This record gives sequence, C-alpha cells and structure tokens, in this order.
Amino acid sequence: MTVLWLYDIDGTILSTEGAGRASMGQAFEQCFGVSDAFAGLSFAGATDSGITGRAFTAAGLPPQQERLRGAYLPLLSGRLRKRTPVLCPGIQAILQRTAMVGHNALLTGNWRAGARVKLEAVALARAFEREERLLGAFGGDAADRNLLVPIAEAQARAAGLVFDRTVVIGDTPLDVECARAGNALAVAVCTGWSSREELEKSSPDLLLEDLVAGSDDLLGLSSNS
Ligand SMILES: [Mg+2]
Repeated sequence: MTVLWLYDIDGTILSTEGAGRASMGQAFEQCFGVSDAFAGLSFAGATDSGITGRAFTAAGLPPQQERLRGAYLPLLSGRLRKRTPVLCPGIQAILQRTAMVGHNALLTGNWRAGARVKLEAVALARAFEREERLLGAFGGDAADRNLLVPIAEAQARAAGLVFDRTVVIGDTPLDVECARAGNALAVAVCTGWSSREELEKSSPDLLLEDLVAGSDDLLGLSSNS
C-alpha cells in the first residue's frame, strides 16, 4: 500500500522554541503598532491565516495578512539563523523510511514561505520538494486546518503521485481532527505542544511517544489493510 504521509512541522518535525510566535508578534507590532497582538491566542495546531485573522479582529483592524507576512518572514529567518530549530527525535530517520513506502508531504498551519524558512534552517526542505516546490497544504491555503487534507491530496496528485492511503502526523488534537475531517488516518506524537492525555482524548489511530519509539508502528500503517 502506498501512503501519502502528511507531516505537521512545529512539534512534529522541529521546534523553533518560540521563535515563530515571537516573530509574528514583533511583525504585528512593527506593521500596526499593536504589541502583544497574540496574547491569549494559542498557536498550537492553528493555521497562520487563522491565528493572524483572530489577532486582526482582536486589534480591531481589517485583515492585512500580506503586509504582516512580509514583515514576519525576515524576522523569523533572523531568529532561526541565531538559533537553529531543534529537531524532534527520530525525524530524519523516519522521513527516509516513510519515503520508501510512499510520499512525504506537508500538512502545516505555516504559510508556505514560513514553512520553507523553518525547514531550510534544519536542511529538511528537500525532503518535501517536488520540482523545487514544497509539496503539501499550508496555512495560506485555508484558515481552517480541517480543510487541508484534500488540498494536500490534490497537490500530490497534481504532482503525479499515486497513493492508496493518507496518514496525517501531528502533535495536537487539531491535527487528529483535521485527519478525521479529511478521511485520513491520524498519528499523534507527544513531541510537541500537547500532553499524552490530551492526545489520547482526541482518539488518534496511533499515539506515539516520539518517532523513534514509534517508528515501526508508523511504518505498519503502510501494510495494514
Ligand atoms: Mg504542530
């Protein structure tokens, strides 16, 4: 069985240790003069379009995502040059293994360009590239993460990829929820934002401590019928 493996980024592939959130907040302040625009808003499992939309509403401003993104990307790059993101355990090895039984792609709340900045900082962009373009669904494709599975699948098909099954790998209950909404299998990993208890409650098909301990179970999803 050939699988389309859809990887979340933050908490699943890597951690920027707050650099994403800090850069977004700084960009918002630079552009619109509002400090703490994201106070009280959770980034876990959110999409960049969704979370910034809520910040604009909270600040009483019309949405101006493009302007914000233009300020955010260089700030993020700068922070990640100073402090390289930390890779989640086992991610490099599992990417090699899943690529042998399917296709690796992304399903992330990051804007496409933000995803590239983060992945390039850990030299993993190429693991998700088809013709120099990151493959998958991104936070700019929909504000609602639950709409992203079919978008990622369509992108993969448009790139000529064939697959029988889609598996979403993520670190929050919202990743599990979006897998359900898109009729994909859900794999939750405890390497990110959410506790094991929270993830258990969301009833993923597979709950893994990390991608080292759970690597054989994950690969098993390509052989079970
Ligand atoms: Mg995540």
